[in-house]
Amino acid sequence: MENSTLAIVVPCFNEEEVLPQTNRQLVALLTDMMTQHLVGEGSYILYVDDGSRDRTWQIINEYSDASVHVRGLKLAGNVGHQNALMAGLETAREDADVTVSIDADLQDDIHAIPEMVKKYNDGCDIVYGVRRKRTTDTFFKRTTAQMFYKFMSGMGVKSVYNHADFRLMSQRAVNALCQYEERNLFLRGLVPLLGYKTDSVYYDRLERQAGESKYPLSKMLSFAIDGVTSFSVKPLRLIFDLGIIFLLISFAILIYVIVSLCKGNGAQGWASIMLSIWFVGGCLLICLSIIAAYIGRIYTEGKHRPRYNIEKYLK
Ligand code: UDP
Ligand code: MG
Repeated sequence: MENSTLAIVVPCFNEEEVLPQTNRQLVALLTDMMTQHLVGEGSYILYVDDGSRDRTWQIINEYSDASVHVRGLKLAGNVGHQNALMAGLETAREDADVTVSIDADLQDDIHAIPEMVKKYNDGCDIVYGVRRKRTTDTFFKRTTAQMFYKFMSGMGVKSVYNHADFRLMSQRAVNALCQYEERNLFLRGLVPLLGYKTDSVYYDRLERQAGESKYPLSKMLSFAIDGVTSFSVKPLRLIFDLGIIFLLISFAILIYVIVSLCKGNGAQGWASIMLSIWFVGGCLLICLSIIAAYIGRIYTEGKHRPRYNIEKYLK
């Protein structure tokens, strides 16, 4: 399996600030790997411009003109990280034996890539990049990310702890992934389902080299909801559990009322009635919204809209 063609897929959304550094480092790394005959001469970096509004695409154009090892894929609009990544992988699988996906901001250590390729040469189809420590992330990012992994596993979603979308996939693994046609993409939950031989490499998470995070809290939250609803129906079962708990509480209240009546006190309490009405009402709305989250996804999945449209492919 020596000398396979490697494609490094990099989704970019408004990344003009960080791209010069990223490109310099990735090109240097790829050149190194080619001289060491770790990967074939046809290997390339594929930047996917996810509908950026800044100079990202012009920059990708320049790099692609300057090197045969740089390609650019321009999507017709912003479709989000996961879809942009999928666009890159689906395009790369046409001529690459193996792909590595990595964020544009160099937070993931690119020097883990040769190690990944070695594991691929040893027969692995999927190699996860796993963060050893995340001391460089802000406290907020770290705790929310940690909560995210805990929550996901609590909801029964299999995903690799501290692994994001920095991973190597063989061509056949990407082919298998492309058969999963869901619109609510959550790649790090899907990839473990493929079942191919898997391994991990460990690296230290670095700081974003330039520019700002494109994942504000709101996007992270909807990403988490996507993750759970695409892989687990546990929240729906929890509604049932909640219903049982409420029934038990109401029985307890019934007994209390009967006992009070027998003692001749009568049942009293405006406050407790108001409290329980609002409490139960709130719980019901939450339960409805959980069901709605699933229905909403059935709705988007049912339409089978394309995940992305390609505007241009620079080879
Ligand atoms: N990204 C994208 N489309 C989007 C948002 C982000 O392609 O709509 C890319 C972004 O350019 C970067 C990667 O996804 O390469 C991860 O984004 P970011 O680094 O901002 O996320 P964080 O590391 O803060 O979670
Ligand atoms: Mg980042």
